[in-house]
Amino acid sequence: MSLPQFKLLRPRTVEEAVEILARVGAGDPPPQVRILAGGTDLIPSMRQKLFEPEYVLDLRGIASLRGIKPDAQGGVEIGALTTLRAIERSEFLRQHYPVLTEAAATVASPVLRNMGTIGGNICLDTRCLWYNQSLTWRKGCGFCIKKDGDLCHVAPGGTKCWAAFSADTPPALLCLNAEIEIASPAGLRRIALKDFYTGLGDDYRILQSNELVTRVFLPASSEDYHGVYRKLRVRGSIDYPLAGVAVVIKASNGHVADARIGITAVNPAPLLVKGASELLTGRMINEDLAAAAGDLAAKTAKPLTTSALTPEYRREMIRVFTKRAVLAAAH
Ligand SMILES: Cc1cc2nc3c(=O)[nH]c(=O)nc-3n(C[C@H](O)[C@H](O)[C@H](O)COP(=O)(O)OP(=O)(O)OC[C@H]3O[C@@H](n4cnc5c(N)ncnc54)[C@H](O)[C@@H]3O)c2cc1C
Ligand code: SF4
Repeated sequence: MSLPQFKLLRPRTVEEAVEILARVGAGDPPPQVRILAGGTDLIPSMRQKLFEPEYVLDLRGIASLRGIKPDAQGGVEIGALTTLRAIERSEFLRQHYPVLTEAAATVASPVLRNMGTIGGNICLDTRCLWYNQSLTWRKGCGFCIKKDGDLCHVAPGGTKCWAAFSADTPPALLCLNAEIEIASPAGLRRIALKDFYTGLGDDYRILQSNELVTRVFLPASSEDYHGVYRKLRVRGSIDYPLAGVAVVIKASNGHVADARIGITAVNPAPLLVKGASELLTGRMINEDLAAAAGDLAAKTAKPLTTSALTPEYRREMIRVFTKRAVLAAAH
């Protein structure tokens, strides 16, 4: 599958990137522009003609977007272009935010983690069996709402797209109360990561066409939680998650002082499980309590037939993985 024709733009600074986005994104109708970071998802998607942008904005020349360093508030900031490999290998992150290094280490394969970035992982397009296919395949099925069509093969009576958000680091980042910085022509703004996702399968994030994600912030208050990430996939060596669970627990005198659970790949957005902290805080983790947390997480998961495994199995695995992750994070 060949790449569509496009013009490649290579800014050296964030300001230049924003200026280019504002310039090439103007017009009626506006020309299509896509941001390229590691390209590990964008390039295969362009080959499948899921995106046929007139311009590709390659961020890789912006050195200021790489790296992991302390921020002014005592937490840590991670540049959007920082590779998943760098995150996985960061001794500082492993010590203070272990759920993130563990989640990053499960993404794809080592080669893809060398290229793939944290910004690209956060911004990853949602996935569906009916969407992540070649143009010929999709044409044969009459297309769908997410691209070029007007019906959903997964929920045929409705008008909504249910494609599943399927990146590994966002549930871990949600558990850590991460914030992200967005650059736009109006300047920089910082938002909670949980407010970045819309819950829609097609228009899945709030990012405008003239904006980019520049940094991720982890607060000092989320340091030193025990954290684990568990993931279901078909091929253990390379696949996207079909269900994923991140759990963080802060313990005090053998009891839970605080806890959060995040899930991915079973809804159109990564989600924090509501009521997890209330259920676990103040109690000692045992099999029954971990199983109750699993039940709660399974209620939050709403998988549909968007992936290779059945929705029932993926939901059940959210239950099982959450129980196991809670038990593991408590020790
Ligand atoms: C075989 C295979 C297996 C994979 N397995 C997994 C997996 O197990 N888990 C997983 O999470 N992912 C997986 N991926 C997807 C991908 O490799 C990772 O999600 C990776 O982190 C994407 O980062 P990237 O820098 O390569 O993003 P890109 O491909 O460059 O971009 C991805 C999307 O984000 C946008 N984007 C990138 N950076 C920014 C930014 N700073 N601001 C705004 N928009 C931005 C792009 O426009 C694009 O829409 C897999 C991919 C392949 C090909
Ligand atoms: S959920 Fe429906 S509309 Fe969305 S990608 Fe799948 S088939 Fe298309």
